[in-house]
Parts: sequence; C-alpha cells; structure tokens
Amino acid sequence: MVLADLGRRINGALSSLSRAGTLDDALLDSTLKEICTALLESDVNVKLVASLRTRVKAQVKAALEADKTGGGRDAQKRNVVQKAVFDELVGLVNPGVEPYKPKKGQSNVIMAVGLQGNGKTTTCTKLAVYYQKRGFKSCIVCADTFRAGAFDQTRQSATKAKVAYFGSYTETDPVVIAAQGVEKFRKERFEIIIVDTSGRHKQEKDLFAEMEMIGEAVKPDMTVLVLDASIGQAAEAQSRAFKETANFGAIIVTKMDGHAKGGGAISAVAATQTPIIFLGTGEHLSDLERFAPEPFISKMLG
Ligand code: GDP
Repeated sequence: MVLADLGRRINGALSSLSRAGTLDDALLDSTLKEICTALLESDVNVKLVASLRTRVKAQVKAALEADKTGGGRDAQKRNVVQKAVFDELVGLVNPGVEPYKPKKGQSNVIMAVGLQGNGKTTTCTKLAVYYQKRGFKSCIVCADTFRAGAFDQTRQSATKAKVAYFGSYTETDPVVIAAQGVEKFRKERFEIIIVDTSGRHKQEKDLFAEMEMIGEAVKPDMTVLVLDASIGQAAEAQSRAFKETANFGAIIVTKMDGHAKGGGAISAVAATQTPIIFLGTGEHLSDLERFAPEPFISKMLG
C-alpha cells in the first residue's frame, strides 16, 4: 500500500471511531487492528507495528485514568485515541536525534552510501543543487569506480546543474579519487563537498571495506544512507549492516513519488535510530524535499 493510501486507511479507521457509539475496549481493539494491518501492508516492520499497538493502548489507558470524570465522554476518548495514534506514528519516523547541520564558511563533507540503483548518484546531485540554492558553494566527488558509466553520469548531471565535480576515467582506486577530490575542493574552499561512493561489489564484504577506507580518507562530517522507498521488509537488515560499517548519521529515502509502499524504509529509522533528512520525490534535480516527522505524518493523514 502506498503511503497516501495508508494515510486514508488510518483516517478511515479513526473516523469510524467517531461514527460508532460507545468507545469500549472492543472498538478500540478493532480500530487498532485495522490501523496495524494497514501499516503491515505498507511494509512497516512487524515488531514496530506490535509495539505501536501496545503503546497506543497504554497511552489511551493512562490518559483515561488521569481523567477525573472516569473516562470522559466518548468524544474525548476518541480524541485521546487519535492523539495517541498520531504521536506513535510520529515516533516511528522520529528517532529524537538531530542530524548534522552544514555550516557556512567551512568545508562540510557529506558521504553518500547505499546499494546500487537506490538513487545515490541522482541524490548526490540533488543535494548539491539544494545547498547551492541556499548559498553554499557545492561540489561532487565521484568515487564510484565500480559501476561503468558512474563518472559520466555524475559529469552529465553536475554539468546540467552547474555544480563543480571531480572524478577520473583512469584511476581505479576509489579511495585515491575520494581523497584527491576532497583535498582539492577543501583547498578551493567549497562548503558542501558530496562524496558519491560505489553501490555494489561482487561481495558485500568488499563494498563495506571500501566504504570504511573512503570514510577514513575523507573524514566525512555526515554520512548519508540512500534508501529506495520500495525496499520493503529488507530495510531493517540492510540499514543495520550499513550502520555497523558506515555509521551513517542520516537517511534519504528516494522514489517516494512512485508506487512504493515506503513503510520498509521508514522502519530503517527505528532499526538504526537515525533521522531521515530528505525525501526524493522524482527524477528531476529539484525533486528533493526536506523531511520532518510531524509535517510528514500530518500530510500522510491528509
Ligand atoms: P545509484 O545506482 O544508487 O547511483 O542510482 P541512480 O542515481 O543512478 O538512480 C537509479 C534510478 O533511479 C535512475 O533512473 C534515477 O533517475 C532514479 N531515481 C533516483 N531518485 C529518484 C526519485 O526520487 N524518484 C524517481 N522516480 N526516480 C528516482
């Protein structure tokens, strides 16, 4: 189920609370069951959904017990349920961790990691454009020597976006390219230096070893995991594996415009306690939206 449908379904469950007569335990249970089924169908992690259900119930119970009228009128009870569901949905996408904020007047190195095809190269250019528009002198270093054509793709999109770039057709060591590019752009006082890394190797072990070496060479201020919205339940294992090696401090979820369910990628937040900072919403370079938990859930619920 795509996120817009998920929002509609949750809203539907909540509004049926308003239409029903007395709000008793059975009605609360059936409402929560409907909401949890919708979340599971959107690929939100099973354990997260189970804990959301328990926490909403606990929140509702605590609020009603605190109410001196012995539970309040049904309309109040419904508000309590609605607020508890909203809070818990926000909690799903809010790890309570502040992401790194690039500062003007200094070099901020951002390293992008993620599997091939997730939209990493596109996102690197989108990020450069985003910061350039906000007055940061921005550039891209293509340290992907694994995928044929990666540097050409960076060159084309960076040229189109009028963003400076660095890469090599002859050097085969991505660590060397990353180090050279970052050093050059630091000297030239670029403020946002985005390092695009390669997405997949024959063995994952090699990919992670390469990421670690690039990280040591360029000392990123922020590492970003780029995740495809359609990743589904695999998000948890994949994001944990990247977290252990690359210790990313932020997530960008791409392809939110498509028919992806999105819930899997959202589950990566909880699995790694790392905030989502942007959503990719299309193939154009301007299709990048800032992410914030409350507005995102409000928008989803319409
Ligand atoms: P990489 O292998 O991770 O570097 O992935 P690419 O940047 O080459 O992107 C793979 C494909 O996904 C390309 O066709 C992109 O145009 C597309 N893509 C990337 N981000 C988005 C997005 O937010 N929405 C849509 N619809 N497509 C995207």
